[in-house]
Amino acid sequence: MAADTLQKRIACFILVLLTLASFGCEPGAVAAPAPTTEPITIVTSAPMQESTPTPLPQSQLKYIFLFIGDGMGYAQVQAASDALSAAQLDPLCFLDFPVLGNMKTTNIDDAVTDSAAAATAIATGQKTVNGYLGLDAEKNLIPAISETLRDAGRKIGLLTTVSLDHATPAGFFAHVDSRRNYAVITDDLLASGFDFFAGGGFHSTPDAQEYAEENGYTFIRSFEEAPVGTDGKLILSTSLIFGDYGVLPAIDGGARTDWLKKATELAISRLKNPNGFFMMVEGARIDYFCHYHDAASFVAELLDFNEAVESALAFYALHPQETLILVTADHETGDVSFTEGNRGALLLQTVSSDICDNTLVAACLAAKTPFEEALPLFVSAFGLENLTPDETAYLKEGYYRTMANSMPGNTSDEESGVYEAITTACIRLVAARAGIVFGSGGHTRKDVPLYALGIGAEFFGGSFENTNIHTAILQAVAAYPLY
Ligand SMILES: [Zn+2]
Repeated sequence: MAADTLQKRIACFILVLLTLASFGCEPGAVAAPAPTTEPITIVTSAPMQESTPTPLPQSQLKYIFLFIGDGMGYAQVQAASDALSAAQLDPLCFLDFPVLGNMKTTNIDDAVTDSAAAATAIATGQKTVNGYLGLDAEKNLIPAISETLRDAGRKIGLLTTVSLDHATPAGFFAHVDSRRNYAVITDDLLASGFDFFAGGGFHSTPDAQEYAEENGYTFIRSFEEAPVGTDGKLILSTSLIFGDYGVLPAIDGGARTDWLKKATELAISRLKNPNGFFMMVEGARIDYFCHYHDAASFVAELLDFNEAVESALAFYALHPQETLILVTADHETGDVSFTEGNRGALLLQTVSSDICDNTLVAACLAAKTPFEEALPLFVSAFGLENLTPDETAYLKEGYYRTMANSMPGNTSDEESGVYEAITTACIRLVAARAGIVFGSGGHTRKDVPLYALGIGAEFFGGSFENTNIHTAILQAVAAYPLY
């Protein structure tokens, strides 16, 4: 045997040993076995004594959860994780999922994606043009995984904290060349035959309820109105509306607290059936607050999203041989990075910038409240205790600018951002204290993480394009068939 052949064989043997060792990986480590269409079989040694062997439970991929944090890149996850750690709270529940994937997010032109092209890529397995939903670049209709699984007899649920006709959920049922064509999107939603929707209203379809009922849906606005039992198709279009559409921000609390978690639990209770379900749950406003550089509010949205994942984990604990949970994002927003800071400052703010403008700032403007009286209110709302003289001067400047040139609603100005100057000063101070830096007001082409747990999770390891989610779900379904 030639020496170089022997060396190759030794190298090969070592590689096999290393590969085997890596499969026994620590939680959180990257596990990327090659995708296979065969179910994993566990080989056990022969029993030492006479007994009736207990058959191993047959794994079937019955229940699929796909959680999408809109705009949730690695830095967003780390910001939330650091904040929890600083406050000595439990970590994000999905960080120790056994399989970690790294996902590329660019659109068909290798450009920064919008949520429509991203949702289409994830749902259909084909990249497309920004703004398109369920169509390829030539405008051919392409089926979404939700439609394929519906046709295979599974129940389908779509949940979001924005409107139900918004781009991410729409990528799972709509086929239209403009994400803003809300009338077509609503028609496609009602024609989908999907079993469960939960979100914050419809953009431009005030009579959505009437259409929904004509199409066989029960239409409710709160959890209390949910019909008893699990039969029938349901749309929960919450009355907790933010601005024109969408669910109120998580950070503002009140009745909004736990909404996504409760919606996920309601979806589970209604969709669970012997033929299985597919559920997409979107934490939609992580993106929104990254666009507008409100760091504490995006972290609150991410923690709210994490609570919804916890509901899926509780379900997984009861059905570990039948459940797959995927947690990922459609793209990163805000080009978030870090400097030194106390990330715990992100958990002290108790109002979103939007609601601050509409309540606290509006009240100060109406009453012409002097800065000295207003300051403690802003300090309390944003958790800005122990101001330094420089910080106080910074807030004072913002407050005077608000009082000098603004009325409620006059909130767009290049220097201040989209909010009132005092609100912008407060969120910038929170971000500075927490060491959060926003490099952009838009989406970026940064990769995003994917965390996978459960039956078929092995198909989601390694580095891949966003289109691979569609492919890998189909592979997992084929590998662990129901019958
Ligand atoms: Zn966005």
